[in-house]
Amino acid sequence: MAVLTYAGAAYEAAPGETVLEALLRQGVDVANSCRAGACQSCLLRAACGTVPAVAQQGLKATLVEQGYFLSCVSRPETDLALEPAGGLEVAGRIAGLERLTETVLRARVETESPLEYRAGQYITLRRADGLARSHSLASLPADGALELHVRRAPQGKMSGWLFDEARADDPVSVRGPAGDCFYTSGTPEQPLLLAGTGTGLAPLVGICRDALGQGHTGPIRLFHGAVRPAGLYLRDELLALMRENSNFAYTPVVLEGGEDEGIAMGALDKVIASAHPKLGGWRGFVCGDPGTVALLRKKLFLAGMASREIFADAFVEAPRG
Ligand SMILES: Cc1cc2nc3c(=O)[nH]c(=O)nc-3n(C[C@H](O)[C@H](O)[C@H](O)COP(=O)(O)OP(=O)(O)OC[C@H]3O[C@@H](n4cnc5c(N)ncnc54)[C@H](O)[C@@H]3O)c2cc1C
Repeated sequence: MAVLTYAGAAYEAAPGETVLEALLRQGVDVANSCRAGACQSCLLRAACGTVPAVAQQGLKATLVEQGYFLSCVSRPETDLALEPAGGLEVAGRIAGLERLTETVLRARVETESPLEYRAGQYITLRRADGLARSHSLASLPADGALELHVRRAPQGKMSGWLFDEARADDPVSVRGPAGDCFYTSGTPEQPLLLAGTGTGLAPLVGICRDALGQGHTGPIRLFHGAVRPAGLYLRDELLALMRENSNFAYTPVVLEGGEDEGIAMGALDKVIASAHPKLGGWRGFVCGDPGTVALLRKKLFLAGMASREIFADAFVEAPRG
């Protein structure tokens, strides 16, 4: 049985238990959300002891070297001396909150020192009481504040707070960035396809703006899906971006109710397949609901897109209950 030392106390991890499970079971308050190794909210540092390689997958090399790991997927094989990841955070404040639809909020966050990031990556946003959730970045560093698009999750703790209680100037902190869902400038003529539903649009719009700003010359095709037109957002901004850039096209897609509004009708994957049946040589970005992300990844691959050219962020949420 491995012994975990944290904040001056020792805790035993039962066989098969993750570090996060062991600490939570014994009353230690560790921030966490997805519990699936996707969101990085539960990052801890092992100052002593060895963590399994799976617990460091997807982390930056600099974090791996310092012993940081994802406690939700780490089943300890040795005793571990643990430290919180607070030292990686930068203090910030809510700079603005704007409802874009009934269920989507644009949150702007200013940090005390500038964060180095690429549009499309994600950060961990932490509230003053420690609640932490991942959010993708729709902004570019030149915009100043970080821009997040937050979906109101039914009874969701962080999204509910941001929608109903948070105010400008409330303190938050930010860790990151993380993830490889961002534009790289090496192949400016390569066609790009970006697709997602709901707030999956946040990283995609950031990537489009980044690519256009860096002089991408190849076609950029953005598909944004929702159940009904009310679920679409940023339409005017995206239509304006399309008018300003001849290589950029934006296609809103809904399942019902868009007949009279110039919106494509049908399932997102099918609308994409009919517009672009062959995707050999393309690069793809898919973000948002995990089921949709998995489906789109598969469909893009089957249409000929190389798997190394597909970049994805599934917005995995905390398990319910
Ligand atoms: C890499 C990554 C990037 C992400 N980027 C974004 C982004 O850009 N925008 C975005 O909106 N989200 C994003 N997410 C998801 C985000 O991190 C949160 O998981 C999400 O916002 C929900 O957080 P919450 O605290 O509001 O809900 P939580 O309190 O964590 O609840 C989790 C889920 O349980 C449900 N639930 C909670 N309580 C109950 C209950 N009593 N009965 C029934 N259901 C319940 C909620 O509806 C929700 O679906 C991202 C996730 C990852 C992993």
